[in-house]
Amino acid sequence: MTEKTIDLPALGSMAADCGFTVTAALDVATLRVMPEVRDMCASDRCGHYGRSWSCPPACGSLEEMERRIRRYSRGILVQTVGELEDSFDWEGMQETKTRHDTAFRRLWQVLLEPYPGLTALGAGCCELCSACAWPEPCRFPDRRMVSMEACGLFVSQVCRENGVKYNYGPDRIAYTSCFLLV
Ligand code: SF4
Repeated sequence: MTEKTIDLPALGSMAADCGFTVTAALDVATLRVMPEVRDMCASDRCGHYGRSWSCPPACGSLEEMERRIRRYSRGILVQTVGELEDSFDWEGMQETKTRHDTAFRRLWQVLLEPYPGLTALGAGCCELCSACAWPEPCRFPDRRMVSMEACGLFVSQVCRENGVKYNYGPDRIAYTSCFLLV
């Protein structure tokens, strides 16, 4: 592997071994940090805004996110796609989210060896601890998961511009994360 290139077949195989359904190349130029996405976080529909080190405002400013993202040019998008009984199948959604988070943490560990400087951006709030330590210091700052949305990224746009399906219809759900590698 040379600088600024990635071996997508090898990465796809690693991601599949960790449990992901889909892996695709990510052009970091398609990541656009948008204040509107942060505004959606601030509406606090998920109940985590201002209550976790992984969520705004504690996770860092959009300017910091932008500076960090611009250090990279290539990465991968990973998805976990799960079946639902119907569009109200909350248990099915939770089960798929749990599978996604497990695969995400596995792949994060695997990728740290070839890419020690990577940035991992997950889906949703960090749930490593049963209750976040906020406002006390984060218990595991090296393993704290910040989501794509918390970085101001509009996930459906990122998927679309990298050739990845986002909406799988009423009977399936997809969770999406990314790793910025080089
Ligand atoms: S590692 Fe624990 S304390 Fe740190 S952000 Fe995640 S849940 Fe909160």
